[in-house]
Amino acid sequence: MAKVRLHQIARRFSAVAAVENISFEVPDGEFWVLVGPSGCGKSTILRMVAGLDFPTSGEIYIADQNVNDRPARDRDVAMVFQNYALYPHMTVAENLAFGLKMRRVEAAKVQQRVATVAEALELSHLLARKPKQLSGGQQQRVALGRAIARQPQVFLLDEPLSNLDAQLRDDTRVELKRLHQQVGITTLYVTHDQTEAMTLADRIVVLSQGRIQQIGTPQQIYQTPANRMVATFLGNPAMNLLHATYQNGMFHLKDRSIPCPPRLQTALNSTQNQTVDIGIRPEFIQVEPDLSEGTLSVTVEVVEPLGRETLIRAFLTSEPSQTLNLVTQGNLSPAPGERLAIRPDLEQAIAFDTRTGDRLL
Ligand code: ATP
Repeated sequence: MAKVRLHQIARRFSAVAAVENISFEVPDGEFWVLVGPSGCGKSTILRMVAGLDFPTSGEIYIADQNVNDRPARDRDVAMVFQNYALYPHMTVAENLAFGLKMRRVEAAKVQQRVATVAEALELSHLLARKPKQLSGGQQQRVALGRAIARQPQVFLLDEPLSNLDAQLRDDTRVELKRLHQQVGITTLYVTHDQTEAMTLADRIVVLSQGRIQQIGTPQQIYQTPANRMVATFLGNPAMNLLHATYQNGMFHLKDRSIPCPPRLQTALNSTQNQTVDIGIRPEFIQVEPDLSEGTLSVTVEVVEPLGRETLIRAFLTSEPSQTLNLVTQGNLSPAPGERLAIRPDLEQAIAFDTRTGDRLL
């Protein structure tokens, strides 16, 4: 186990700044997730920690040692990619043992460690098979096992579940979490999947366009996003944004006004007569029988029944460009085109500066 620290890391590819001013420290044994849309620089950061790429400026420390000039093989990190390449001519056992043998670990120890890892990943009954005799999920578990067996100081995972089908992905995700709880190796995990980020991470680093947007626990990121990008990226269905003008304690939408809760008024008093984006998560919007004070009329567009709950995509009846995600009980199933009255619980709302996207405090 070892902590990992990045200090003002930048990586430029000629004119392209892939990442800029990246600083964070992953404490010993924690599981951190780098998340963000395609091209935001996640893989570049991971590759630099692995020693497969090198920063244009800044320093990387593993266990307090500056590793900038150290090649990958001297960093004691293990990396698993989306396209895990198992050795096709070797059995599962040989694949699991490979990294250990390369490091000249003695045979009895190799055998013991392979057995332990195989058991943890439910691969014990597959040890004699070759990779092509395994399902995709089993192959992926072997790739993870091979990395874990080495007991590296740091574990680096780049979208390791994205080749798996939905069910396997869920199962392997739980497996990964269990495994981390057991072995506690410092882990950096890259994904664009917000569910993986929320469920796995001790802390999430949200990236956009090569820059850190926010670092926090899943709860912090979900409940107090630093800006509109973070707010809408994490959470499924996504947070709703209502464009409104704020004036004298009221939010004015096209043909309706709703009172702004006192908590937000302080933040908004310097924004008189200006537009703000009101961020409100779907779970804080209630469907009501009729329009009344504090409600808005929406028109249903698409209905997705999920059994326990129903997801509804709707738009403000007076302003069709303003779409909204609603989550209701599973027994509600309105027809497309139907009008509903909704009551957003603005006590739970967040206000964003329309221009910069920053959360107004
Ligand atoms: P994805 O989720 O699509 O894998 P990512 O967040 O991992 O994306 P990176 O692969 O880190 O993103 O790339 C970050 C930026 O750097 C992108 O704009 C990419 O085009 C650019 N980039 C990455 N590698 C190179 C390279 N070798 N040469 C030039 N540009 C590169």
